[in-house]
Amino acid sequence: MKNWAANLTYSSARIERPRTLAELAGIVAGEPRVRALGSRHSFCDVADTKGVHVQLDLLDDGRPALEVDPATGVASVRAGLRYGEVAADLHARGRALTAMASLPHISVAGAVATGTHGSGDGTRSLAGDVVGLELMTASGAVLTLRRGDADFPGSVVALGALGVVTRVELATVPAFDVRQDVFTGLPWDALFDNLDAVLGSAYSVSIFTSWFEPDVRLVWCKSRVDDGAGAAPALPVELGAAPATRPMHPLPDVDAAACTEQGGVPGPWFERLPHFRLDFTPSLGEELQSEYLLPRAAGADAVRALRALGDRLGPLLLTSEIRTVAGDDLWLSTAPGDSLAFHFTWRQDWPAVRAVLPELEAALLPLGARPHWGKLFTVPVADLPGLYPRFGDFAELAARLDPTGKFRGGYVEALLAP
Ligand SMILES: Cc1cc2nc3c(=O)[nH]c(=O)nc-3n(C[C@H](O)[C@H](O)[C@H](O)COP(=O)(O)OP(=O)(O)OC[C@H]3O[C@@H](n4cnc5c(N)ncnc54)[C@H](O)[C@@H]3O)c2cc1C
Repeated sequence: MKNWAANLTYSSARIERPRTLAELAGIVAGEPRVRALGSRHSFCDVADTKGVHVQLDLLDDGRPALEVDPATGVASVRAGLRYGEVAADLHARGRALTAMASLPHISVAGAVATGTHGSGDGTRSLAGDVVGLELMTASGAVLTLRRGDADFPGSVVALGALGVVTRVELATVPAFDVRQDVFTGLPWDALFDNLDAVLGSAYSVSIFTSWFEPDVRLVWCKSRVDDGAGAAPALPVELGAAPATRPMHPLPDVDAAACTEQGGVPGPWFERLPHFRLDFTPSLGEELQSEYLLPRAAGADAVRALRALGDRLGPLLLTSEIRTVAGDDLWLSTAPGDSLAFHFTWRQDWPAVRAVLPELEAALLPLGARPHWGKLFTVPVADLPGLYPRFGDFAELAARLDPTGKFRGGYVEALLAP
């Protein structure tokens, strides 16, 4: 079995798809090595195991797949559902998530386990909106953890290392509509001088570039239409960009049929916040991805450093994206404070990408960068704990809940090695 991008063959002996909690408990308690696998969209071996993989897409835990508490708006969802499925159901009930990743195809538990995020000055990562979860631990028993519990901040971005999450509780807000407006050709100087203003010009903003182009290729603005933002944001045009005259794909020269509707047409939040439609292949498929999150204050320095590396990065890139993420308090969060995310979609040439990543990381790590847990990086695993002040607490929690290391695998094994 390979991951979605087919750059990784998992080393598990077999994959189980349990249908009941009792079946799952039998596997978890009975196997020496087990690891939950989501929708396989990570690019690195974060989900790997030499034991047995469990996928939860068929799991029926005896409760409705999605329930919303009318008093709090909290949605309790089966962990193996895809975000796109959860979002459509929530919308039908008049509720919304504050953020979506670029693709709706990813499983809820797999996405939050790696700190997956969308974009927006005021929106936390998908993990940041988790308020509770149910976790099957090594014995097969299910533990419920909620915001306010001492271990909760360690249990959401947890890399599959604490057990198998069977249900996730998500904060929701009333449903809202969004319009997408895309602008092309922003001059670099305008971006250097107005980075925060451009990124703050809509509810959710993504900037796409390959760093060596003469100007910034796309500024992609997603505006809520119920909060006074009924028109396209004015700033990109004021700074010299032009409104796109046709739907644009994040990757140059790729047809935009797979993209959610643009051109300022308002629509439901879950059909605008992701870049890609659920029923199409997201991005390109034949690609690799890396991503680094940095404190907001380092943004301008990071943009200049990456522009200076443009000739090295550009030939390997399909595209690169700058986004913002509001901070949260999760121990392994890549956005512990308000952050900028620098994402790289590479051509599928790992030897060449591996050769350039150390240069990229040498530019970004001194600025406080943390690699995305689910993507490709060359930072030594032994250096990662030093990037997380609460890593020791996470390691202690993992050792307490999983004393034999049943749930470790891939690079997470080395990360948690004593
Ligand atoms: C085209 C594309 C676009 C992307 N866009 C974004 C983006 O916009 N923003 C972003 O931040 N990332 C993005 N990513 C990365 C992606 O969101 C993460 O890699 C995410 O973790 C994938 O979720 P998954 O369900 O595929 O999990 P997997 O890759 O299958 O697993 C990831 C981790 O989750 C754990 N896990 C899975 N299920 C469970 C469970 N039930 N219990 C406990 N642990 C579990 C696994 O053990 C593993 O550690 C993108 C990836 C692709 C391929």
